Amino acid sequence: MHADLVKLLDLQSKDAAVTDVDRRLRELQAEFAVLDRAMQRAREALEAARRAAADGARRRDELEAKVESYRVLQDRRVLRLESVRNPKDASTLMAELDLARSVMAKEETDWVRKAEAVTELEAKVTEEETTVAAIDQEQVPERARLDERRRGLEAERATVVGDRETTAERIDKSLRTRYDRLRGSRAQDVVVPLVGGTCGACHTSIPLNRRSQIRSGAILDGCEGCGAILYPSDGAGSA
Ligand SMILES: [Zn+2]
Repeated sequence: MHADLVKLLDLQSKDAAVTDVDRRLRELQAEFAVLDRAMQRAREALEAARRAAADGARRRDELEAKVESYRVLQDRRVLRLESVRNPKDASTLMAELDLARSVMAKEETDWVRKAEAVTELEAKVTEEETTVAAIDQEQVPERARLDERRRGLEAERATVVGDRETTAERIDKSLRTRYDRLRGSRAQDVVVPLVGGTCGACHTSIPLNRRSQIRSGAILDGCEGCGAILYPSDGAGSA
């Protein structure tokens, strides 16, 4: 086999190791994301509960102010009634007082209902706060495990990347550039075997004379179909 091919295959295996570590890092990231989403859902539920409780409290307070203003008016009617001499005016005022009293009674009942609702909404806030705290606590050991795995993978990545660079430096610069360019543009391997006289990646047929030159190690050749660099693997002369 052509000496450069041996180096390229070595580089390709180092790149595969880097790709593999990157894939495991992405999987690990996805596990972090699951924890993050669970936490986010709990926080959103808490925020919603807080908003609902604040809205409820605002409605209760508004009604309280309304009832209070009714009470002031009612007190004035009572005062006026004391000074009214005309019986007709007095009975009109009495009717107003009765009507206002029943309206107030209704609003007060409504206020009690709203105040009870606020108590329930506040209990819900406390419940959601407990849930957030529990999830936070629950995730501590899991996050510690994931962090440890991440540190391990990052160290592993630094090693394989260093290894890859050392291997790459041993390769002729123009060939390295060709390899890197191909690697950046294709999902498949850059260096592929000749398989039954065809390119191992795209199955384009390789002319006989070039096949034998590749096998003898005389040339470093690329597939005309996909650009992959070919190496002999399917029979005689592949050493
Ligand atoms: Zn090809």
